[in-house]
Amino acid sequence: MKKISIVVPCYNEEDSIPAFYEEMKKITFKMQDRCDFEFVFVNDGSKDKTLEILRKLARMNDKVRYISFSRNFGKEAGMLAGLEAATGDYITTMDVDLQDPPELLEEMFDTLESGEYDCCATKSTNRKGYGFFRKIFTKWFYSIIGKISKTEMVPGARDFRLMTRQMVDAILSMKEYNRYSKGLFSFVGFNTKWIDFEITDRHAGVSKFNFWKLFSYAIEGIVAFSTTPLVFAALMGVILCFLAFIMIIVIVVKTLVWGDPVGGWPSMICIMSFLSGIQLFCTGIIGEYLAKTYLETKHRPVYIVKETEKDLKD
Ligand code: UDP
Ligand code: MG
Repeated sequence: MKKISIVVPCYNEEDSIPAFYEEMKKITFKMQDRCDFEFVFVNDGSKDKTLEILRKLARMNDKVRYISFSRNFGKEAGMLAGLEAATGDYITTMDVDLQDPPELLEEMFDTLESGEYDCCATKSTNRKGYGFFRKIFTKWFYSIIGKISKTEMVPGARDFRLMTRQMVDAILSMKEYNRYSKGLFSFVGFNTKWIDFEITDRHAGVSKFNFWKLFSYAIEGIVAFSTTPLVFAALMGVILCFLAFIMIIVIVVKTLVWGDPVGGWPSMICIMSFLSGIQLFCTGIIGEYLAKTYLETKHRPVYIVKETEKDLKD
């Protein structure tokens, strides 16, 4: 019988975990004749009762495992830890807030069992429950990255997907420190079937991604999967050199023909500010890549584990 590992990153989710577990119990019960299950909860440095709840679940059910981090390392780190710890033949990552509908698991399982696909992924057709700015910036992000990255990023794609062991091993073979999963999933290839669903509001609690967290995550995605911004910086330099060259000719001719009463101070300041702005912007782009390279070369661990279910005393 195949085993499905369910990887669930949790950060301050004391209100959501019990409801999630109840829902999952229904679906695992329904599928129990066809497959076995294992839960791998990852406590991402929560400050509430998340860890205590996970300990309790692990004591009650030996199919529940958990990994608890020494501090908050972010959802990407949580997913990595879960994927590394998972022992199943099929592996899925799910949000604990029930925004990823558990009932889709059965269809996803059937898809992989058919042997035609290596992965069954989900994408939401709407962005219900997300604020106005988040919706707009998400739309921009996908349209920009779609143009500048060779790796395909599917708009609305969730991290909720069921993958074969082979695909997960391929993902884990990528040892990069700056992990942008949506890109990594797509980068490894394999046959993916997409299922659409309508996302609902969070079951309880609030989103753990505020605007800035999401914005820097978007920048991370761009830097990790495209070097086009660097080309853009270089291109900007070439265009400005060309404009400057034309301006020099115009000014020389103007001075020779009409003489040069001293003036043009305001326009000079405008041009100077404009150019320094562009220079700083381009230096910033280069700095962003340099910073990521710097972090990669340090080879720091992506996460640090403080406790797992194996540490539980009876
Ligand atoms: N999460 C996490 N670490 C973090 C932020 C979020 O493990 O630093 C988890 C969170 O507990 C949830 C999932 O990632 O299970 C998705 O988070 P959330 O629902 O807040 O994101 P949104 O749905 O708003 O994108
Ligand atoms: Mg959510």
